[in-house]
Amino acid sequence: VVNQPDRTTTAVCGYCSTGCGLNIHLQDGPNGEPGGGGAVNLTPTTEYPVNLGMACPKGWEALAVLDAPDRAVAPLLKDGHGKQKPVNWDQALDTFRDRFQAIQKEHGAESVAFLSTGQIPTEEMALLGAVAKFGMGLVHGDGNTRQCMATAAVAYKQSVGFDAPPYTYADFEESDCLIFVGANPCLAHPIMWERVMRNKQKPEILVLDPRATETAMNATLHLPAKPKSDQSFFYGLANYFIQNGWVDRDFVANHTAGFEEYARFVEAFTFERVSKETGLPAETLRDAALRIRARERVSAWWTMGVNQSHQGTRTAQAIINFQLLTGSFGKPGTGANSITGQCNAMGSRLFSNTTGLLGGRDFKKAADRAAVAGMLNVPEERIPDRDSLAYPEIIEGILKGKIRGLWVIATNPAHSWINRNQLDDVLSRLDFLVVQDMYHSTETAKIADLVLPAAGWGEKDGTVINSERRIGLLKKVRKAPGQALADFSIFKLIADRWGCGELFEEWTDPEAAFHILKRLSAGMPCDFSGIRDYRHLDEAGGVQWPYPAEGADPAVERRLFADGRFYHADGRAKFLFEEPRPLPEAAGGKYPFTLLTGRGSASQWHTQTRTSKSAVLRKLYPDSVYVEVHVRDARRLQIAPEQTVRVESQRGSIRAKAFVTNGVPEGCLFLPMHYPETNQLTDGQFDPYSRQPAYKACAARLLAD
Ligand code: SF4
Repeated sequence: VVNQPDRTTTAVCGYCSTGCGLNIHLQDGPNGEPGGGGAVNLTPTTEYPVNLGMACPKGWEALAVLDAPDRAVAPLLKDGHGKQKPVNWDQALDTFRDRFQAIQKEHGAESVAFLSTGQIPTEEMALLGAVAKFGMGLVHGDGNTRQCMATAAVAYKQSVGFDAPPYTYADFEESDCLIFVGANPCLAHPIMWERVMRNKQKPEILVLDPRATETAMNATLHLPAKPKSDQSFFYGLANYFIQNGWVDRDFVANHTAGFEEYARFVEAFTFERVSKETGLPAETLRDAALRIRARERVSAWWTMGVNQSHQGTRTAQAIINFQLLTGSFGKPGTGANSITGQCNAMGSRLFSNTTGLLGGRDFKKAADRAAVAGMLNVPEERIPDRDSLAYPEIIEGILKGKIRGLWVIATNPAHSWINRNQLDDVLSRLDFLVVQDMYHSTETAKIADLVLPAAGWGEKDGTVINSERRIGLLKKVRKAPGQALADFSIFKLIADRWGCGELFEEWTDPEAAFHILKRLSAGMPCDFSGIRDYRHLDEAGGVQWPYPAEGADPAVERRLFADGRFYHADGRAKFLFEEPRPLPEAAGGKYPFTLLTGRGSASQWHTQTRTSKSAVLRKLYPDSVYVEVHVRDARRLQIAPEQTVRVESQRGSIRAKAFVTNGVPEGCLFLPMHYPETNQLTDGQFDPYSRQPAYKACAARLLAD
């Protein structure tokens, strides 16, 4: 039997933030080396506390995508004719150093920036951030987490004092009322949804989403509110609860600040007004309120429908506010719960050294800089005393000629950035673009001046932090192809070649870096200094933060704020709110439709960089772009199912197949995010607090082709 394994190890999946445990089955090497023949197949781990023996199609196919023919197997450098040609690592590293240093010499240290990811282990992200900022002198770097989780991070920081999703996955099963807002876990987080399906409380499931998604179809009440009206919805709900005296007065008095102002503010959000703004009948709003009121353990869950909005932060806080006023924090089955996107978005949020200093600290605070300098033994003056530009500001910086060199690691902005037609122009203005990736075929890698071949999931060690704050272990179970190297090794090589390698001598390998991370976390809310080592993580089935060296709670599933104490200095959570704003680009006139975007399948991931490499996953999803259009709109425009149509916005025009359905509301269109065409149409609007792009709504029109 060709794939008969000799032994089994475990590792966490490297796609989404669920963080499922997988058994990886290994063959011994030709001379009997244990596991030396590498991974031959995998199965979900039954004992892992996250997934309890389940995995989605992406997890099952995680090994298959490593064998793709378009893996980057050697560094590629553009020659004088603009053609990428293989070079050796020496040449690649020399070029990296010479070109970026020349740009810095001419335009200043800040003229080179980096864009990283939520897809690589925390150890790699922290080393990248440290090398880039403390070694190479860069000030500006951000991650693709700006596109998914920035809003949740800012909302939590402002409201509860730290970027701290409070829940544990047991809450999916312990809640007797789950409110999903702009979230479709059936597709986007299928194993979390399986946890909901295990709920024995006969829960109410309310889904606030313009589309009749797979999750909405399983709801006890679907609330098809107009796009981006969820902020008004929660203000109206809060007002109704306050007017009826359904406030947890003890919790509010003892653990929150700003309630009275909030109560006055939401008075204006009568159901009459909210009905106009959401398009939901007042009777439906009342029904939703009564259903929530009738239950004891109410949890609210949100994802990109909230985060990717022009008013995402205040919308997330409208959810947090509602959970605060009902005292739904810190108890089983409760919480205002952001579900993270990428496998290590939280590692990035806390340790990427981009807009926040390592460990959830602040670049602008002298004490934080001194602490990090001491812990890492780097001169304090090497630590920037200000935040990085956020992703959209880096893009703007390139447009203005202030950023001239860009280093992109494990992300694909030429596909995924909002209004990507503009980005093509932006990237072409760079003096030097480096892309470090597993594949040389991404839209961004194809236009790079230099491609650095990287190992992927399964080809390197490290840790990731999932949505419930669980730190899980990734393992090297395959050899990377050709000359591809772990990102950790690439960062070390770059530091040495740049001339700052001695600053990072202690970062010898990922596990050594993990011990540095423990040190950086100590005393912070995300303290995990009590985790002994990688073996501890492996044996425990991952460990949730906080897990301090002294007095750690050994329970496998833990939630935050059980004592009602939040992370602000006064221990109180804040009610934060403001008047909802209209859509930046409302439908009307030449563009009568509201174009929504989002995940289209459980089998595909983001820009399909990896998932398109699996024949199984390809079969589970159409290989060319389609647009969802409501039956009545299709009839009115005389568009037949499967007909090729044009979808146009002010920024571009694309061809797509019509998918005629009742799942999208009349007057709206839906395009999946996985196709490169989609972001040719989206509008470059951002939340003012998180600077997260508002991918979810812009004006468009539909034409028969
Ligand atoms: Fe991997 Fe997420 Fe699927 Fe679990 S749900 S197998 S973590 S992609």
